[in-house]
Amino acid sequence: MARVLTKDIEKFEGKEIELAGWVETRRDHGKLIFIDFRDRSGLAQVVFADKALHEKADSLRSEFVIDLKGEVRKRPKGMENSKIPSGHYEISAKNLEILAKAETPPFDVATGGLDVSEEVRMKYRYLDLRRPRLQKNIRHRSRLINFIRSFLDNEEFTEIETPILGKSTPEGARDYLVPARLHPGKFYALPQAPQQYKQLMMVAGFERYYQIARCFRDEDTRGDRQPEFTQLDLEMSFVKREDVMELNEKLLIAIIQKLYPEKKIQEIPFPRLTYEEVVKKYGNDRPDLRKDKNDPNLLAFCWIIDFPFFERVEPESKRAHPELVEGSSGSGSTGSPQTSKEVWTFTHNPFSAPKDEFMADLLAQKNIPKIIASQYDIALNGWEIGGGSIRNHKPNALKAVLSIMGMDDKKINENFGHMLQAFSFGTPPHGGIAWGLDRLVMILENEPNIREVIALPKTGDGRDLMTEAPSEVSKGQLKELHLKIGEKD
Ligand code: ASP
Repeated sequence: MARVLTKDIEKFEGKEIELAGWVETRRDHGKLIFIDFRDRSGLAQVVFADKALHEKADSLRSEFVIDLKGEVRKRPKGMENSKIPSGHYEISAKNLEILAKAETPPFDVATGGLDVSEEVRMKYRYLDLRRPRLQKNIRHRSRLINFIRSFLDNEEFTEIETPILGKSTPEGARDYLVPARLHPGKFYALPQAPQQYKQLMMVAGFERYYQIARCFRDEDTRGDRQPEFTQLDLEMSFVKREDVMELNEKLLIAIIQKLYPEKKIQEIPFPRLTYEEVVKKYGNDRPDLRKDKNDPNLLAFCWIIDFPFFERVEPESKRAHPELVEGSSGSGSTGSPQTSKEVWTFTHNPFSAPKDEFMADLLAQKNIPKIIASQYDIALNGWEIGGGSIRNHKPNALKAVLSIMGMDDKKINENFGHMLQAFSFGTPPHGGIAWGLDRLVMILENEPNIREVIALPKTGDGRDLMTEAPSEVSKGQLKELHLKIGEKD
C-alpha cells in the first residue's frame, strides 16, 4: 500500500489507506482514542475503536512517529472541523506501527510559539520548526526562491556560485576571518557580499548573473540582522540605473501577484524619492509610506536614489574601516591615520559609479561631499530590502574612489589590485543590486524578525544554541593553524 498524505484523504473515502507521520495530540475518550495526526501536508483525525489496537494507541504520546493503516470515512455530522482541509473526514485505524518514540517535547509544537522563550526555541530548533507557522514560513521561502530562479532564468540570467573563502577587503562591515592552515599567518575572509566576484563575472562576459548568496558580516546582531544572511545578488552588463531598477520592480511585482495575491501594492510604478527629500520629509532613508499602517497586507515599496557618494570620517571616531588605515596587511605601510587630511568613506559601496554628471569631479577628486552616487535603494514598509548601483567599470574611476578614501597606491594595489587589473581587460559597463532575502520574506510573512524565516538562525549575540557554536577548539587544532589564544579582555 502506498503512503497517502493527509491533504489527499478525501479522495479515498471508503477506502483503506496508509499514513505515516507524527502524533500531534492524543485524546482518550474511554473506548475511543483520537489522535491528531500530522504529516508534511497537514493534519488529520485518526480514531482508534478497534479493541486490539487500544493498548498500543493508548501508549501514543505527542511527537511519536507512526505508520498506520485505516479506512477513510466521513466524520459524523456536527463533528467536522472546518479549520483543516481534511476536517470532514477521519481515519478509522486498522493497524498501527510505532516507528519512533519521542521524549516529552520541551514545548507544544502545535502553537505559534511566540510566547516560548527564544533560548528554548533555538536550543530545540528542529522541534520548533515543526510548528505550522514555521513550516509555512520555510516552505514559502523555498517557493519564493524557486520563483525568483525561474523568473531570472527566463530573463536569461546565469546562476553562478562564488567562493566562500575569499580575500579580506574593506567593504563596509567587519570580516569573518578563516586562518589558512597551509599558509601560516594568512587568512581568508568570508564574503560580506559577492560584490567583487559578481563584477568579475561581468568582466568574464556572462552579462547577467545572479545568485542566492550567503553573506557574512561580523557585526553586533540586532533584531533584523544575523551574522550570516541571504541575499538575492544580481549583476547586469550594458545597463543603466533604470534598467536594473525596472527589472527588479518587475520581479517584485510578479512575486507579490503570483505568490501573495492577498497582498496589495500601494503604488505601481514604485515611487522614487531622492535621498535629500526623503531625509527631509521622513528623517530616514527607508520611509514607511503605507497610507494605512494597520493593514498587514499593504505593501508600500519605494526607491531611494541620488545618495551622496561619500561621507566624512570624523578623525576621533572609531574608524569605519580600520583595515584602511592601520596597515593591517603587515606590509609595512605606515598605518597612521591621516590626521591633517580629511578622511572620507563611501556611504554604500566603494565600487559604485557616480552619476554621470559627477564623474569629472570624482576623477579630479574635488567637490567630494557634493558627488552623488548612482546608488538606488529599495524600501518596503519602513525596511530597507535592497540596494545597488551602477559600477565604475574603468580602473581610473575606481582608483579615484579609493584614493579619496585615503588609500595610497600601494594600499590600493594590495586590496583591489585584482579588480583594477581585471577592469583593464575590456570591462562592460555594468550594475546590479542585492536584496536582503530574509528581510523580504519576513515582511511578506508578517513576521516580527528574520529569525522566524530562517531555518537555523543564530541568537541575537551570534550563538547557535543547538550545536553550541561558537565553541572552543583543541590545542592541536590551534597549533595546526599556527594560532595562539591571547588573554581574553
Ligand atoms: N553588494 C551590495 C551589498 O551587499 C549590493 C550591491 O550593490 O549589489 O549591499
